[in-house]
Amino acid sequence: MTIAAAMKQRMKTIGLIGGMSWESSAEYYRLINEAVRERLGGLHSAQSLMYSVDFAEVELLQHDGRWDDAALMMVEAASRLQYGGADFIVLCTNTMHKLASAIEAAVHIPLLHIADATAERIKALGLHTVGLLGTRFTMEEDFYSGRLVDHYGLRVLVPPASDREVVHRVIYDELCLGQIVPQSKSRYVDIMRGLVRQGAEGIILGCTEVGLLVHDGDSTVPLFDTTRIHAEVAVERALS
Ligand code: GLU
Repeated sequence: MTIAAAMKQRMKTIGLIGGMSWESSAEYYRLINEAVRERLGGLHSAQSLMYSVDFAEVELLQHDGRWDDAALMMVEAASRLQYGGADFIVLCTNTMHKLASAIEAAVHIPLLHIADATAERIKALGLHTVGLLGTRFTMEEDFYSGRLVDHYGLRVLVPPASDREVVHRVIYDELCLGQIVPQSKSRYVDIMRGLVRQGAEGIILGCTEVGLLVHDGDSTVPLFDTTRIHAEVAVERALS
């Protein structure tokens, strides 16, 4: 058996669609490799491919509402990963899961959906009502919370409109630019407190950069960091 064939037998190749933003893609890369080292020990690291897009182009399409063009971009990235030998796809952003079905229809390798990975963790803790922080698209449209409600029976709370605006702005104007601003962290902590007062038993950090700003100790209820969860589930899949 060739070395490549032996590797293939032990570990699947993870195909990452990154760059949205690269600040969080770097976290995925680190978390995935750390998890493989933890599981296999020694010098082991993940077999992976990342196709990283230019986030300035993506952000423009999102805010202009040009989702068909954005879907073409995601499909192209997924196809490149498929032809590069990826066994499954990890789309390293919550927001772009709005286009999950377009990706799934265009390639024959599976997409590891970030909302499914997260919902399974929430259910494993026996929680029912969760708060959701993310971009305006993720908090306000149905593609994300609808999946949590319909497939997992969860109740999803989002902050009021003025707070959603703050959460969205901090993501695009700070976190995606690598800026961690203490005042923004305080705002997020207050917004999370508000969700807990409304009945949230846990909070989904439903944007892959938000885990750079807030951490476990910042809330009285469990935080579900979608980046970490998605990366861990990807490793479970790669080693299964
Ligand atoms: N990474 C973010 C998310 O998880 C926002 C960037 C994007 O719009 O893709 O939603």
